[in-house]
Amino acid sequence: MKRDKLIFKLLDEEQQRQEEGIELIASENFVSKQVMEAAGSVATNKYAEGLPGKRYYGGCEIVDEIETIAIDRAKQLFNAEWANVQPHSGAQANAAVMLAVLQPGDKILGFDLSHGGHLTHGSAVNFSGKLYQPHFYGVKKDTGYVDYEQLKEVALREKPKLIICGASAYSRDWDYEFIRAVADEVGALVLADISHPAGLIARGLLTDPLPHCHIVTTTTHKTLRGPRGGLILLGKDFENPWGLKTPKGEVRMMSALLDMAVFPGTQGGPLEHIIAAKAIAFGEALSDSYMKYILQVKVNGAAMAKAFVERGYDIISGGTDNHLMLIDLRNKNISGKAAEKALVSADITANKNMVPYDDKSPFVTSGIRVGTAAITTRGLKEKHMDTIVELIDMVINDPENETVLKKVRKRVHKLMEDHPLYRDKHLG
Ligand code: PLP
Repeated sequence: MKRDKLIFKLLDEEQQRQEEGIELIASENFVSKQVMEAAGSVATNKYAEGLPGKRYYGGCEIVDEIETIAIDRAKQLFNAEWANVQPHSGAQANAAVMLAVLQPGDKILGFDLSHGGHLTHGSAVNFSGKLYQPHFYGVKKDTGYVDYEQLKEVALREKPKLIICGASAYSRDWDYEFIRAVADEVGALVLADISHPAGLIARGLLTDPLPHCHIVTTTTHKTLRGPRGGLILLGKDFENPWGLKTPKGEVRMMSALLDMAVFPGTQGGPLEHIIAAKAIAFGEALSDSYMKYILQVKVNGAAMAKAFVERGYDIISGGTDNHLMLIDLRNKNISGKAAEKALVSADITANKNMVPYDDKSPFVTSGIRVGTAAITTRGLKEKHMDTIVELIDMVINDPENETVLKKVRKRVHKLMEDHPLYRDKHLG
């Protein structure tokens, strides 16, 4: 076969972009070489509908072993009783959970997208807001922390069947115990979507939702540093509270309902190459070197937040407990969109983001979201956080000044050259 020079040239360019720039997108990370190798392996050729030992295709003995190892490692990593490693993404994991526990038209209660929640938690443009009846809670205007009183009030009033906690742009820990108590009062299940802080939770640096929440979902590619994908976990398998039946008319335990909601409910064949990469990433996340990494992610997050505050930036909730923070740029007289564009032209990648009670549209926004998961993989430490914030500040104060942008770009390239990506032995 003739090599596709066009696509490989573009992939080379993408690698160069990743190597040269400062990556601050909170949902991104850099996988190890072995995770990447597995993701590009022969397992991509294999169809394996079903579960290990119960497949609809022949020749699955080896991928069965791989998937079983992935499941076992996921359970060990999160201290879970059950795991399904097949969801192709975080969105698909959430879709499967909702398919398993809800009927169309049921009420759900999620964290408002414009306050830091995720599309799949009930947004009107997403399946979750179209198939189910969404209600929301947000953050308090004065503190930027989740308004648990509001959550309780809406739950008592609406009696949702599912309460969803977890976020895409919230820098604080969660009170899962409180949410569970509210859910018990109204007869709801609790889904914790820990996509962002999964790595911090797995290694004990944030509150563990599994003892409190009925179901936990996560992506595998953010702080967890695995391939792009999703994962569903149960701390304890339980009977479905509404006696929901399988298509065959059986009332089954939650694990069985979730397995069926992934396949055949929402997906066809699992991506066994990605499952192999997940297994490797879970193994890595159990290691001492990952523990050192994830601790540094948190330390870097705190150092970055401090540096922003010292330069007069308004961080929602005033700081961070995890790897990310949301910055309200209204006191800097620049929109999120303009800030993102200027930063990208200086080879600093971050994303524009709505801030709570934003007066601008989602296409413009008043804020940016930044995170430390990827730059920590590059080996950056606390002392570098101040430098990064200094560079961001230079851009934000003079976003159209080519001389400033050029100066910043040069310093960005030097910093990242000193912390190489796939040439660095700690990624090997
Ligand atoms: N849930 C949360 C909280 C997220 O932040 C994200 C992605 O950003 C998702 C779900 C969806 O994950 P994916 O992009 O893999 O579908």
